[in-house]
Amino acid sequence: MYECPNCASNLKFNIARQSMFCEACGTVMSPYDIEKEKDAEEREEFEVTVFTCPQCGAQIVSEDNEAAAFCSFCGGSTILDSRISREKRPELILPFKKTKEDCLTAFTKMTKRSIFSPNELKNYKDVDSFRGIYMPYWMYTATKEGHVCYDVRKSLSKYRGDYEYIDHFNYDTDVDADFTGVSYDASSTFSDKLSQAIAPFDTTQAAKFTPAFLSGFYADTLDVDGEVYDKDVEELTTKAVFEKLNDDPAMKSYQTTFDKAKNSTKTAIVKRTLVMLPVWFMSLRHKEAGKEDRVAYVAVNGQTGEACADLPIDLKKYMLGAVIAAAALFAIFTFILPTLKPIALTISAAVIAIITGIVYSSQNTRIKNQETGEDDAGLKNAQKKGLVKSIPKFDSQTGKKLEYNDPDSKVNILGIKFGTGGFIITSIAIAAALFLLRPVSDLWYYGGTIIILLLVFLFLVKLMKRYNKLTTRQLPQFIRKGGDDSAKTAVRDHERKGGEDK
Ligand SMILES: [Zn+2]
Ligand SMILES: [Zn+2]
Repeated sequence: MYECPNCASNLKFNIARQSMFCEACGTVMSPYDIEKEKDAEEREEFEVTVFTCPQCGAQIVSEDNEAAAFCSFCGGSTILDSRISREKRPELILPFKKTKEDCLTAFTKMTKRSIFSPNELKNYKDVDSFRGIYMPYWMYTATKEGHVCYDVRKSLSKYRGDYEYIDHFNYDTDVDADFTGVSYDASSTFSDKLSQAIAPFDTTQAAKFTPAFLSGFYADTLDVDGEVYDKDVEELTTKAVFEKLNDDPAMKSYQTTFDKAKNSTKTAIVKRTLVMLPVWFMSLRHKEAGKEDRVAYVAVNGQTGEACADLPIDLKKYMLGAVIAAAALFAIFTFILPTLKPIALTISAAVIAIITGIVYSSQNTRIKNQETGEDDAGLKNAQKKGLVKSIPKFDSQTGKKLEYNDPDSKVNILGIKFGTGGFIITSIAIAAALFLLRPVSDLWYYGGTIIILLLVFLFLVKLMKRYNKLTTRQLPQFIRKGGDDSAKTAVRDHERKGGEDK
């Protein structure tokens, strides 16, 4: 902690004052004027307290040695184990501009907009469950230089037979572009999905790092290598250059393809700067009877106030909505549709089934990507380094990656398990059979339509249940092995002590 020079209480960074503040005596100081262990700037590291969650292994860094009361990542309330450690010293820090109260306002606004979200979220008042965390980001400085020469073409709108006349030209230019401020989160704990949702940060406002800024806040540990995002930077800069070139008024009447331009310039990554960016973070433990506990996150950009949350849907509210929709459908059926031919009815139902099936299937893919960490470059890097348990299991004998098998992706109807394919095929088969056979009695068409719509209804209910899987995550499972066995030791110590506070 940082002692107040006046009264020896704890000096903390104050958001409203944008400086260090003592709540006891009102002393205000610049973070740069505080010296702790001769905070030498040339040092590569700085001293911190690392807290490790005994439940999930997540680590969080603090300037304070006061015990952290809860884990932001799994929502567990077990006292975290602490030890003094040295962390890589960031170069820059963007101090918090938004307060906890701003955060709660942003969150409330968001839950109000989402009609199906549970009431306990709408009436959420506990401002203290938001925790200010500085997230480490890699900020890239890159240049793109080189001679660009690619093919552009212009149709002459002249045709002869099957041939169209096209003029080809070589587009020749020199590119010299500088990029700075492109940043990616460098913590495997912080999901890329959330970090992208609350982006961007204005990094031009970042200040030179000094540990005093962290006082009163936490920081996440850096565990993603800077090189992980090199490819993304290259893609982004290439795209930016190409868009700029295309904006050239001289290019207006020409066509070109991105691929051809892609290989004609080279990106050089000049520097990767470690910068701490402010994020308000909250976790909501989601319990469902008979199922594994899951967790949902709320993240708010500490500079702009941009909020993002995994908002689960209240199933009761959704069912009420579904009943209202069904009543509306029924009304349409009885009043408008009798004028339609019954076969048209069955075919419309089959079309609705196909659309539902496609939505359902794409949601399954998203669930799979989230559960396996496939959509998170930072998490994948941490998995590779053995820091985080990797979810795609590996066959112990062949070492091959096992397909992610989601037992919950199928819909059980009268003991038959329907996948998306089965559902779509059944619906089409019913419609096709009626179309070809053309039974005389209208009852056949109505019966077929009702069966298809019933299937649609069951898939829609399941869709929402599955949606809640997408808005919650597996509890994080960090292994923290390799160069850092401290987490395991910490857990063991903790168990030996019977889980009591240090
Ligand atoms: Zn004081
Ligand atoms: Zn935890």
